[in-house]
Amino acid sequence: MEDLRHIRNFSIIAHIDHGKSTLADRMLEITSTIEKRKMKEQVLDSMDLERERGITIKMQPVRMKYLSGGKEYEFNLIDTPGHIDFSYEVSRSLKAVEGVVLLVDATQGVQAQTFTVLDMARQEGLKIIPVMNKIDLPVARPDEVREEIMELLGCPAEDILSVSGKTGEGVAELLEELVKKVPPPVSHYEKGTRALVFDFEYSTHKGVIVYVRLLDGEIKKGDQLIFQAINEKFVVLETGIFSPQKVVSDKLSAGETGYIVTGIKKAGEAKVGDTITGINDNLPVISGYMTPRPVVWASMYPESQDDFTDLKQALERLNLSDSSLSFEEETSGSLGRGFRCGFLGMLHLEIVTERLRREFNLELVVASPTISYEVENLITKEKGLIYSPHLFPEDTKNYRIMEPWITVKIITHAVYLGQIIQLLHDHEAEIVLTENFGDNRTSLDIMMPLRELMRNFFDEVKSSSSGFTSFSYQLADMRQADVVKMDVLIGDEIIPAFSKIISRRRVEKDAQETVERLKNLIPKQLISIKIQAQALGRILASRSIAAMRKDVTDYLYGGDITRKMKLREKQKKGKKRMQKMGKVNIPAEVFLKMMKSSDAN
Ligand code: GDP
Ligand code: MG
Repeated sequence: MEDLRHIRNFSIIAHIDHGKSTLADRMLEITSTIEKRKMKEQVLDSMDLERERGITIKMQPVRMKYLSGGKEYEFNLIDTPGHIDFSYEVSRSLKAVEGVVLLVDATQGVQAQTFTVLDMARQEGLKIIPVMNKIDLPVARPDEVREEIMELLGCPAEDILSVSGKTGEGVAELLEELVKKVPPPVSHYEKGTRALVFDFEYSTHKGVIVYVRLLDGEIKKGDQLIFQAINEKFVVLETGIFSPQKVVSDKLSAGETGYIVTGIKKAGEAKVGDTITGINDNLPVISGYMTPRPVVWASMYPESQDDFTDLKQALERLNLSDSSLSFEEETSGSLGRGFRCGFLGMLHLEIVTERLRREFNLELVVASPTISYEVENLITKEKGLIYSPHLFPEDTKNYRIMEPWITVKIITHAVYLGQIIQLLHDHEAEIVLTENFGDNRTSLDIMMPLRELMRNFFDEVKSSSSGFTSFSYQLADMRQADVVKMDVLIGDEIIPAFSKIISRRRVEKDAQETVERLKNLIPKQLISIKIQAQALGRILASRSIAAMRKDVTDYLYGGDITRKMKLREKQKKGKKRMQKMGKVNIPAEVFLKMMKSSDAN
């Protein structure tokens, strides 16, 4: 059996902003994986959106060569995102490694996501290397934070390394520690080939490219392989490694991470977590991943129905590299054909709509996001899940409605506890456990309706505690809900994309706010228009937009001359459709703005 003792596979995991991508930069530099002149900050965050927002959205694998004691080691590193909406990316990368660097910011200390990612690593039985980062900062509190890490892991102080991803201090020692502590991969079978698919990419020229971790055997160009779960065969067109850009290699061997060009042109068949083997190998499949459960749904329609096929294709392609996105075709009377899409959180929803707009040039109508409700008709005993507010029953008298609850972990400074408990009350939360830890900090375990989390809960808590609070959450059980549907009428016509399901006790207030917000967003039209919100069988709020003066017509549509011609054409088509469909023109931006400011309840 091949000697794998020179290979180390590991991931960097941490709470958001604790410095994972920056530490990866220093590792790439020290190992000369990237030339100094080509180096830029957070080089592994290669997507435009990642660079603009300064966050990691996609996991990113990279191979490095490292010399230690005269021996050359192969390091396969996977950088991971920290935001809770992208935890699924983390869980996948952890299936492809033997160890993790658990990073904790020396100014912030242990945060809520530190617990979550540590749990994930423990579940996979991975070697955990605790590392304190940002020790270069004058405000760092290394002694207190070291104590916190010791408490968290139950490890002695000597096990915790101190580094600065910024200056590079301590990073060489960390690389040595990885050689010593992370176990090399083990191959279990002499005969045959076996690989775990942990990610995908679609290339217009090459088709589906799979990212794999090889467990056994070898893969090279010309090999005949099979996706076990979907039973689809293919011939390997190319193999390669991440450097971090893709570099062709002769073969991939057991224990390694790399990519395979499959030549498969249709997206949407193969899934991450599938096992690839040789076509005649009789090897057991690798236990895959849990399928992620979406928490928010939103319906999306192309502004122009001509773009329906483009939207479908775009979703299929995004789905390859983002398997946590789910979608299903849906038809709405006034909006035409579209998709009901499921997301792992509001940031995920925002990122997907932004990518559809940028990478695929699509103008979209996005309905108010919602969570799912289990609805049972008490008379007919019929049960169903409702993901689209406009399908919710008008009158809930004869229905039992259940909604998802979540468990939330909150870590904050003791001084903010008072304000936070007030907010917990406003959001119908129940406190399960409070614990003091570290220097003057408190950890709260609470339960609350998912619907209340979507009502800007995190933002409110953050701003009431000057940002000194961190969270993570998980879906828990289903409980009975007291919610109603609210419809919005524009020019006496219900616009299904604006319908939402809200808590009965807030319906009056929400109706007022929604109408007010729409009044400010919808451009004036040739005639005056009425905007109304209705729930519980009556109109709860109403405002009017006065008719415009003639000379502002130009400004209304396409004032932005920098847009591409193609986009303009699409908008024109969309406009035509809108004019045909209703009396009132609602530009796509209005739907996007309503989506972003929406509470998703
Ligand atoms: P990630 O979300 O964990 O990937 O964090 P990033 O690597 O994107 O870093 C978050 C922020 O912290 C960035 O502004 C970095 O420049 C900064 N940062 C990361 N590591 C260090 C460090 O060791 N020292 C200092 N002073 N800043 C750091
Ligand atoms: Mg990052």
